[in-house]
Order: sequence, then C-alpha cells, then structure tokens
Amino acid sequence: DGKKVAEAVKKDLKKRISKLGFKPGLAVVLVGDNPASELYVKLKEKTSKELGFHFELHRLDKDTDELALLNLIDKLNQDKKIHGMLVQLPLPKQIDEKLIIDAIRPDKDADGLSPMNMGNLLSGNNKVIPATPKGVIKLIESTGIKIEGKRAVVVGRSNIVGKPVSVLLQQKNATVTMCHSKTEPLEEHTKQADILVVAAGKPRLITADMVKKGAVVIDVGINKVMGKSIGDVDFDDVKKVAGYITPVPGGVGPMTIAMLLENVLQCIWLQGKLKT
Ligand code: NDP
Repeated sequence: DGKKVAEAVKKDLKKRISKLGFKPGLAVVLVGDNPASELYVKLKEKTSKELGFHFELHRLDKDTDELALLNLIDKLNQDKKIHGMLVQLPLPKQIDEKLIIDAIRPDKDADGLSPMNMGNLLSGNNKVIPATPKGVIKLIESTGIKIEGKRAVVVGRSNIVGKPVSVLLQQKNATVTMCHSKTEPLEEHTKQADILVVAAGKPRLITADMVKKGAVVIDVGINKVMGKSIGDVDFDDVKKVAGYITPVPGGVGPMTIAMLLENVLQCIWLQGKLKT
C-alpha cells in the first residue's frame, strides 16, 4: 500500500521540517502544457504545501529555448529560498534534456538525476537518490522481506527508473537481472524473481504465468488506457500468485512524491544547513 507507506514518510518529514527553523524551498520548472506533467506538478505542489514547504512553480512556454531555461536554472541555483529543484520531464524536442539536468547544482538536484548524483550512486557514494527508485526500495522493505541474497529482476533500463533501481538492489546485495525490450523470452527471467520490479511503460505486460509464487511485485508503470491509469502488471491476475503486489494507482506514485520531498531535506543537509 504505497499510500500508507508514503503517509508514514510524510509524517516523519513533517516532524523534521518543524525542527528546521525555516521553510524548505522546492522549485519546479514546467515547460509547455503536457497534461500528465501538469497533473504530476499539481500533486507535488499540493503535498509540499501540506508539509510546510515553500513551493515555487516556474512555467515556461512550450517554445522556450535552452538559453532561457538555463538562465532560470542559474537563478534558482543561486536563490537562497530554494533548497531543491527539478525540471519536470519530458521537455519539448528543441531542448536537450541532458544539458538542462547537468546545469542543476548537484546539491539542489531534488530528482537526483544529475550526472554527478547518478555517478555517485553508481560508485556507491549515494548523495541524492532518484525519487522513484528510492520509493521502490522503501516499498520492498515495507514487506519485511530481506533483499539480501534474493534474486531481483528489473524490467526496464531507463536512467530515471530501471538503472538506478538495479544499482540500489545490488547495493542491498540482491542478485540482479536487468531486462529490456530486446530480452527474449522475458518470462524466463521474470519467473526466477523473488523481487520483480516492472518499469516498462507497457500496459499489463506482466501476467501471472510470468511470476514466481510468493514474489514481491512492484509495478512502476503508469499507462493511460481509455482514460484510466493502469500499470505494467496485470494486477488482478498476478495478485493470485504474488506474495506482495503494488496497485496502480496507489503504489509507487505516492512514494515518488514523498521521496522527492525527502530529497529536498537531503539537499539541505548536503548544503550544510541541517543541524543534526
Ligand atoms: P522509458 O520508456 O524511458 O523506459 C522503458 C524501459 O522499458 C526501456 O528500458 C525499454 O527497453 C523497456 N521495455 C519496453 N518495452 C518492453 C518489453 N516489452 N519488455 C521488456 N522491456 C521493455 O520509461 P520510464 O522508465 O521513464 O518509465 C517506465 C514506466 O514507469 C512508465 O509507464 C512511466 O509512466 C512510469 N513511471 C512512473 C513513475 C511513478 O512515479 N510511478 C515515475 C517514472 C515513471 P529498451 O531500453 O530496450 O527500449
């Protein structure tokens, strides 16, 4: 139950924020008017305000060029009220995503996607961990099942989800297999998994016959099908064999926001502004 686990994280965050003596500041940059991005940004704004954050939304037109966006990031990098920031992805085609993310100060990179934070993660020197992968690990740990020594299979190898999830699971001493669109046959791998994390963006890709009995199944996917959000896992089918399974919605989604806000506190700590 991602909502329940996220509530516990938020409760703890609220306590930590009350002891800060100042409002943690989060800035979100939204370029264009992608409806899914609008929704995610709204949820981030709502939750951060509930927890007592100073929240800023910076909207830029869909035709914005790289220079305008880089100038805004530069301003936010220097803004003392802002402790963490993120640029909502995806960006319009004329903008080089890597260039933009690289411009964010690593100690203000609330999404943990900058090359510095990704490199640190890869070398085991975790600084800011990407929010969704961090939420995935918290959800697995909420089952009480030990990750160490387990066989974990991650479906998807994106920089945002699949790759960092695999690294985090390895750090926790799981034996990890990474699958992607060229993996043939997929079920040969997924069936071996004690822990199965799916982030492929393919509705109901995983069915019960592809899952080991008792497995922990974490569904990261969010797919819009006939106006409804559904996951990459066929929930009703797979719940018959899985030991634990996350729903969509109400699984990884709420965790991503809670972890993002936790990352802002991590940024404050990296900036040397936390008295603990
Ligand atoms: P990407 O499209 O960047 O990556 C998808 C990955 O899945 C790729 O590595 C791709 O392989 C692999 N893949 C695609 N089809 C298959 C298949 N049939 N079998 C095996 N692997 C396959 O997506 P993201 O990682 O950004 O996101 C994945 C899903 O998670 C999306 O539905 C997205 O909306 C959701 N998401 C949810 C979040 C949340 O908070 N809950 C946060 C972020 C994402 P290849 O590399 O070969 O192309």
